[in-house]
Formats: sequence, C-alpha cells, structure tokens
Amino acid sequence: MDILISGASVAGPALAHWLRRYGFSTTIVERAPRLRDGGHAVDFRGRAHLSVLRQMGILDEVERNRTGMGAMSYVNAAGRKLGSIPADLFAGDVEILRGDLARILSDAADVEYLFDDSVTSLAEDAQGVTVTFERHPARRFDLVIGADGLHSNVRALTFGPESQFVRHLGVHCAVFPLDNYLDLDHTGLAYRPAGKMVAVYSARHNAEARAMFLFGSPPLTYDRRDVTRQKTLLAEAFAGVGWETATLLDRMWDAPDFYFDSVAQIRLDRWSKGRVALLGDAAYSPCLLSGMGSGLAIVGAYVLAGELAAARGDHRVAFDAYERVMRPYAESAQKSGEGVSKLMVPEGKVVTALLNQYMRIMPYLPGKQMAATMARKTAEAITLPDYQHLRTGVHRP
Ligand SMILES: Cc1cc2nc3c(=O)[nH]c(=O)nc-3n(C[C@H](O)[C@H](O)[C@H](O)COP(=O)(O)OP(=O)(O)OC[C@H]3O[C@@H](n4cnc5c(N)ncnc54)[C@H](O)[C@@H]3O)c2cc1C
Repeated sequence: MDILISGASVAGPALAHWLRRYGFSTTIVERAPRLRDGGHAVDFRGRAHLSVLRQMGILDEVERNRTGMGAMSYVNAAGRKLGSIPADLFAGDVEILRGDLARILSDAADVEYLFDDSVTSLAEDAQGVTVTFERHPARRFDLVIGADGLHSNVRALTFGPESQFVRHLGVHCAVFPLDNYLDLDHTGLAYRPAGKMVAVYSARHNAEARAMFLFGSPPLTYDRRDVTRQKTLLAEAFAGVGWETATLLDRMWDAPDFYFDSVAQIRLDRWSKGRVALLGDAAYSPCLLSGMGSGLAIVGAYVLAGELAAARGDHRVAFDAYERVMRPYAESAQKSGEGVSKLMVPEGKVVTALLNQYMRIMPYLPGKQMAATMARKTAEAITLPDYQHLRTGVHRP
C-alpha cells in the first residue's frame, strides 16, 4: 500500500518508520523546504514513551542528544531566586530539542520526502485517494495521514475549518532562540508576574538560549504568516513587565526563528474519515504546556501503524482500533494539559502570589514530587498493544 503522510516533525517520521517496518510504502509531504531545525525542547517520560523509542531503536540516540537540563529557578523582579522547579517536572526522563528529535526520527524512517510542498485537494473513491499538491504532480495513494500539527491542512481539507476543533486555553506562547547572554549552565530562570510568565533557558549545552513568553489573553486575530505583527503583539503584551524582559524583547527582533501561537487543544469526535486519518497534534493536541504532545505523537504513530499491519491494511478496521486504543490516553493527557496551563499562567495577583510562595517552599514539602509523579502517571496510562509478530511481511488490503 502507498501511504501519504503530511508533516515531517515528530508524528509523521515516527509513523513512516513503523509503516516501513510492516512493509508499507510511504511518502511524506512537508511544507518547509527542509527538515526544520532547532525549536523548543520536548520531553518523554514513563514506560510507554521509552518503550516506543526503544523498539524504534532510537532511544540511545535520543539520549545522546538530550538537553541535560538541571533544575530551573523562579526569580522575582530583582532577579533574586525564590524557588526551584525540579528537572523531572519539566524535562521528563529525556528532554531533547524538537528539531534534533525530528532529525533522528527522519534518519530512522528512510522515506521519500516531498519538501516545500503541501496538499491542495483530496478526492477519495473506492480504490484510493487522488492527491493534488501545490508543486508536485498529482498522485494516487491508498491512504492519507495528516500529521501536520495544530493547524493541520489535511484536517481542514477533510473535516472543515479548524475553528470547529481548536480549543483555546486562554494563553498565548512565544519562543525564540537567542545568545546565552546570562551564562546559564544547563538551567533556566522564570519570572512570573500576574497573568504572565517570562522564562529563559540554556540550549545546545549552553551554546545558545531560548526565551519563552506566556500570557493570558482571549483568542487573538492576526495573520499567521505575519511574524512582525506577532512580535509587535508580544512586545505590547510585555511592555514594562520588568526583570530581563526588555533585554529579551530587544533580542527578539533579530531572532532567526520565532514561534507564536495560542496554547490550544484539538478535539474531534472522530480522527478519521474514509481513507484519511489524523495523528499527533493534528488529531489530539493536548496543548504545548502539557509536556505530552511528543509522547502522544510517537505512541499514536506506533499504534496507528501497528493496527494497520494487524488489519492487513484494512483502513476501516485499523482506524477504529487506533482510536479505541488511543482516545482514552489522549483525553487524559488533554485533561492534565488544561490544568497545567491554568497553573502556569494564573490570572489573578493573589493566586500568582500564592503559587510563587508555594514554589518557594515546595523543596521542603513532603509532597514535592507530587506534580512529577502525576505527570508520569498520565504518560504511563496506556497498555501498549504488542505488534512485534507483525514486523515482517508486505501487507495488502
Ligand atoms: C513552545 C513549545 C513547547 C513544547 N514543549 C513540549 C514538551 O515539553 N513536551 C512535549 O511532549 N511536547 C512539547 N511541545 C509539543 C510538541 O512540540 C508537539 O506536541 C509535537 O511536536 C507534535 O508533533 P506533530 O508531529 O504532531 O506536530 P508538529 O510538531 O506541529 O509538526 C507538524 C509538521 O507539519 C508541517 N506542516 C504544517 N502544515 C503543513 C502543510 N500544509 N503541508 C505539509 N506539512 C505541513 C509542519 O511544518 C511541521 O513540520 C511543545 C510545543 C511548543 C510549540
């Protein structure tokens, strides 16, 4: 079977890897001109995530590329340290830059790429799907998988406008790279005034840093391709906030890469329609603050490919089984993601002050591991089906 995957970040190449091991042929179309490098740090935690990485044969390589971050500190406006956040809370068992992970996954996938392109139409019939692209000639595929993120193009073409499925959690986020001018050594600093958070952390073993901004706001209207407008929105939201904010915002204007988006989840009643299915953030984004997006993407890829192999390519049976296995797991990650985003950017001054106070005393409390333990529990709340016996032949419907 020929399967087209849209998106070459985490979910797409992970799925291509598994499909190849079951004998399916895959092509990935990616809008960027090449694999996107760098980006923010993502993490994996608990048995299920590590088991999938191990079975893919890439766990050692992911560990070799880990960020190696230690605890981060909360500071006040004067830069005085108020408390620390243990590394296992935000970095899981292994933390890696998203771009490094995409490169490792893609090396392991060995698949045909159509870069700098995007699907423009999908026409399904009884035998397959005719796909047209912006640049490449039209082609036929047996199945199409949308692994193209929160603003999925395949989802829009198949299920309709994203406004029906995106659930804004009341927070916007920006991330950009900068020089490590604070000489942070495998650590980061976070400042949290009411309704906002500014953080800076070292990256690439201190050779660089990343700034992260979070602020509470209703959904904002802006052109997603207009980066200057997004930078202006951020500068306006953080004007006069104090601590290192003004210096970080000065550096923002020259940043080679700039991420700006709403902290949002994707909720759909069904993740597939006919011969098209969705995977990763496109189907069930738990929100970027949940610490679960990459884990869901690789576990989802493992399950979707395994079910296609188990059903010998019968997409109706496979897509149903994929959803049965993954939906409770994805929904519990979304529940936890909602809670985390409320905690990270509390609205009122009083709640912010209480939380800052809590961070100060947390290291001395008996339940200090509670948040990390809860995150691990969410990440482990799935029993991975065993598909090992299927990893040999070529499968046809
Ligand atoms: C700031 C930030 C911090 C995060 N921190 C964490 C964390 O600590 N832990 C964690 O687990 N997760 C984290 N995440 C979430 C994590 O990055 C995502 O959940 C994960 O990358 C999902 O992978 P994906 O492949 O489904 O989608 P994405 O990574 O969004 O990839 C989608 C891909 O599709 C491509 N694409 C988009 N449109 C098209 C199109 N029209 N045609 C072709 N290709 C297209 C994109 O270029 C991209 O390569 C964070 C995310 C952000 C933004």
